[in-house]
Amino acid sequence: MAELHFFTGTMDSGKSTLALQTNHNHAARGRVGRIFTTHDRAGAAVVSSRLGLTHEALEVDGEFDFWAYVVDTLTRGGRIDYLVCDEAQFYTSEQIDQLAKVVDELQIDVFAFGILTDFRTLLFPGSARLVELADRMNVLQVEALCWCGKRATHNARTENGAMVVEGEVIVVGDVDQVDEPPADVAYEVLCRQHHRRRLTAARAKAVSLAPEPLPFG
Ligand SMILES: [Zn+2]
Repeated sequence: MAELHFFTGTMDSGKSTLALQTNHNHAARGRVGRIFTTHDRAGAAVVSSRLGLTHEALEVDGEFDFWAYVVDTLTRGGRIDYLVCDEAQFYTSEQIDQLAKVVDELQIDVFAFGILTDFRTLLFPGSARLVELADRMNVLQVEALCWCGKRATHNARTENGAMVVEGEVIVVGDVDQVDEPPADVAYEVLCRQHHRRRLTAARAKAVSLAPEPLPFG
């Protein structure tokens, strides 16, 4: 029986590496799959892992229809045994519904990989729907660590070095601001306590080096 699998973890937990490994394992057994991604760190239409592996992928935009794509491919004589879906947190809830339908009606395995919560600590829409629908949910065992050494469970966004907890979930990097330079956006994984205190590694270092002890926010 085909199943909808959801593999989740924080940003540095190796999801894309596992996505590529999953594809490799199934392809090595002669199965035919498709790899999807959206907003990958390497740019459009490529799944890339922090360990340096890359693989071509199909780019998922807001209008993409998984059900229509798979049915169209099969109708034209194509073969699909499984789908690997990276960066699934960015998919719409409708697209996750389409993936569940592909599993149930076409008996095609779907392996989805994504971050659970955004930098505001709220569930991504795609991840929320995956939690609701997945047959199996797996939290990745390669766990990222906060600067303090505790398990990193939360994603932090910094803009020009300062941690922010409000703003657009997806930052469009190529928008030219005429009157002000674009903020330098970066991400960091933290434990819940340090996410709550907005204490990033850089700020913790600055606090520890300050001559007077500073109150934590
Ligand atoms: Zn911490």
